[in-house]
Amino acid sequence: MRKFQLYIGGKFEDGPSNFESFNPATEKPWAIMPDATPEVVDRAVRSAHRAFHDEAWRGLNATERGKLLMKLADALAEATPAIAEIETIDTGKVIHETASQIAYIVEYFRYFAGLADKFAGQHLPIDKKDMEVWLRREPIGVVAAIIPWNSQLFLTATKLGPALAAGCTVVLKASEEAPGPLLEFARVFDRVGFPPGVLNVITGRGADCGIALTSHPLISRIAFTGGPETARHIVRNSAHNLAVTSLELGGKSPVVVFDDANVESTASAIVAGIFAAAGQSCVAGSRLIVQRGIKAALLKRVVEKAEAIRMGDPSDPKTQVGPLGTRRQRDYIEKIVAESIAAGATLLCGGKRPEHLAKGYYYLPSVLDCTSINTPSVMHELFGPVLSVLSFDTEEEALQLANDSEYGLGSGVFTQNLSRAHRMSAKIKAGVVWINTYRAISPLAPFGGYGLSGYGRESGAESILDYTRTKSVWLRTSDDPIPDPFVMR
Ligand code: NAD
Repeated sequence: MRKFQLYIGGKFEDGPSNFESFNPATEKPWAIMPDATPEVVDRAVRSAHRAFHDEAWRGLNATERGKLLMKLADALAEATPAIAEIETIDTGKVIHETASQIAYIVEYFRYFAGLADKFAGQHLPIDKKDMEVWLRREPIGVVAAIIPWNSQLFLTATKLGPALAAGCTVVLKASEEAPGPLLEFARVFDRVGFPPGVLNVITGRGADCGIALTSHPLISRIAFTGGPETARHIVRNSAHNLAVTSLELGGKSPVVVFDDANVESTASAIVAGIFAAAGQSCVAGSRLIVQRGIKAALLKRVVEKAEAIRMGDPSDPKTQVGPLGTRRQRDYIEKIVAESIAAGATLLCGGKRPEHLAKGYYYLPSVLDCTSINTPSVMHELFGPVLSVLSFDTEEEALQLANDSEYGLGSGVFTQNLSRAHRMSAKIKAGVVWINTYRAISPLAPFGGYGLSGYGRESGAESILDYTRTKSVWLRTSDDPIPDPFVMR
């Protein structure tokens, strides 16, 4: 069994106790993970707080911080195969995806490295005589970055990149479900040459470690990605420190297909949108909203493609879809699919475990044709390989169905009609609209949600501002004595 350690104050240490992490493809434990207690969390936050005020970090200028981030990007590029392998074993995500995703995450660190010295304060043309006013953009302080078990390096880069570029220090909390990739990332970070304590990496259960972190008095900023229920806890706990908080939460993303869409490429986009990563993606296109004229032809191709998916050992580069992350997750999906069928949905494919895989939390790519928006699979985020289909006749109906969700993260529109694409993109209630494509990301493009999908935006140049505070500095330029001290100036 492999053993991982905590990373606090630039040193690796064993946890006060440990837990086992399971390989979802074999159902067997494969690694020992450290379980951080509130005492460990306190040390990690204090170490980040010390580093924040220490000249070794505070004394660096923005260009120097950018250069360190660039070195981190290079180190991550070199370590990509090793981290991808750990992520695949710990989460069950296929090696093809973990390797290509981490390789692209390197570009996120490069982007924020370049951004470090390209955001600036401002001078105001102030409406007062003999007065100069300028704005300083100062790093906000110690950041608690809380990461779910899926897409860990991506969700780390979108928080750590802007935080370090802005001059903050960070306590990164990996999920207790599969913390291996981030604990290994700490080893990569350690080699780069950042001052000790600038990044601390811990893991542990939400109830102990998570609450201690988000309510800690020295935390100034919480950047959270995970589910809405956890987000509610975090918002309540942050009432202690009033930390500025951003929430990247779940989704029930609609993919709207009009009659004039190209069947073949739309079917490919739909299949990738819902079945990649076994549907365990916040932007999984889990609600297909299809116009009746194209429905039969499109569903035929979607089902054919879904049934042709190579499901199996995630470490095999030829595997396209692996297991679900946990047994609990598979149980939940089985329950919701059964309830949806009982509520009148028609199963077009899947709906069960694959017969050729005796071990592992596998569940076949599944398509449910649903007659009602009240079908359980339409209403709930499943975080699994289940596509729910709804049908429409008019554009107005399509929009109503697309927006009929408490979530609003990703969305897709497939049409050859440019005017309609514009109308839909303006009216869809989602943080991202992909037109004739799906699941594209870039460090340049802001990402975030509406409603239960959370608030705040990650990526893009402006995201760095969320890790700063503005200070207004007033300077009186006259040497004359202040005439009347009791007048507000
Ligand atoms: P989760 O909410 O269960 O856990 C996320 C993190 O929060 C973990 O590190 C966990 O330990 C921690 N946590 C749990 N309780 C806590 C508490 N009380 N205080 C502080 N931290 C606590 O989510 P998950 O099951 O790991 O991930 C799946 C969810 O994440 C889905 O809803 C998915 O859509 C969402 N997600 C969103 C995005 C996005 O960018 N919007 C990306 C990926 C995943």
